[in-house]
Amino acid sequence: MDTTNLNPRVVDQYWRATIARDPRSDGVFFLGVRSTHIYCRPSCPARRPLRRNVEFFQTQREAEQHGFRPCLRCKPNEISSAAALVQKAAAVLAESDEEPLRLAGVAQQLRTSTSRLRRAFVQVTGLSPRDLAEALRLNRFKKLLRQGRKITDALYETGYGSSSRVYERSNAQLGMTPATYQKGGKGMKLRYAVTDAKRGKVLVAATERGVSAVYLGNSEAKLVLELREEYPQAGIAAARNGLEKWVREIVSRTEGNPPRQELPLDLVATAFQRRVWQELQRIPFGKTRTYAQVARAVGKPSASRAVARACATNPVSVVVPCHRVVREDGHLAGYRWGIDRKEQLLKAEKAEAGAAI
Ligand SMILES: [Zn+2]
Repeated sequence: MDTTNLNPRVVDQYWRATIARDPRSDGVFFLGVRSTHIYCRPSCPARRPLRRNVEFFQTQREAEQHGFRPCLRCKPNEISSAAALVQKAAAVLAESDEEPLRLAGVAQQLRTSTSRLRRAFVQVTGLSPRDLAEALRLNRFKKLLRQGRKITDALYETGYGSSSRVYERSNAQLGMTPATYQKGGKGMKLRYAVTDAKRGKVLVAATERGVSAVYLGNSEAKLVLELREEYPQAGIAAARNGLEKWVREIVSRTEGNPPRQELPLDLVATAFQRRVWQELQRIPFGKTRTYAQVARAVGKPSASRAVARACATNPVSVVVPCHRVVREDGHLAGYRWGIDRKEQLLKAEKAEAGAAI
């Protein structure tokens, strides 16, 4: 797919990323420079070419099929070796309880340099090694809690020095405290409201910090049951009031209207789910992406299936727009709340986006 087949808005995005040398765009697209027949990663340190000389490609293969050769500075053909390196390093990090993280030690173990390892991390995961180690450790921590381990034991086993630190971090990364995460949301207080919308009922459940669930269906009882099944140990109660603002915004979005206000989310997620859900929130209103495109965008080109799973487990439908992800052949694939709903929602968004232009 060369530039002429890409949506002009996407091309604009790519060009902005090119000017910014945005490392998060590495692996998402490649730019070919017509005057030199060289193709580069977006983050290439070389001088920026003139806009009119640039052609964009979504894969390295496409660039090479169009006669471009890999740049010797940013080595765009070496993404796979970077990915392999990161995978090995992640395995070492997952086992390491060292605090603080000594990247040099990991690099030495893998017979590479610290700077090459750091670069590989940013290229492949979009995260610094330190961020990734945190995410991995949180995952192990969560797993231990799920196995019924005591919090203090899990803290000790994952190498957290003091409990206050994990609580601090978990607020940002888990969206809830470990104590509430344990045993199906024990200690967690969820309030919910079910509202009639154009195409059925919408359940919105939230903690004090943000929205935790958005379900769509025809039966109020069934939606509430699903919520109880997802958080069997949480305190769940119908909200008398206080949720109206969030509910209004969400109902409007389920009817195919563009977002009018930001919604705080309070989600339970693995690092990977979080990355995918963040990426889904970047899909422009009225547009769709394929699972493979999302996989590439999160730096895991071979993880289409894992992306599909992350979409299927999205607890806040519509707010995290998993309905905007479709199969490579254009078919809609599945939707937790029914394929018809997905189709109607996409149709409404497309019409609305078209009307706005
Ligand atoms: Zn380059």
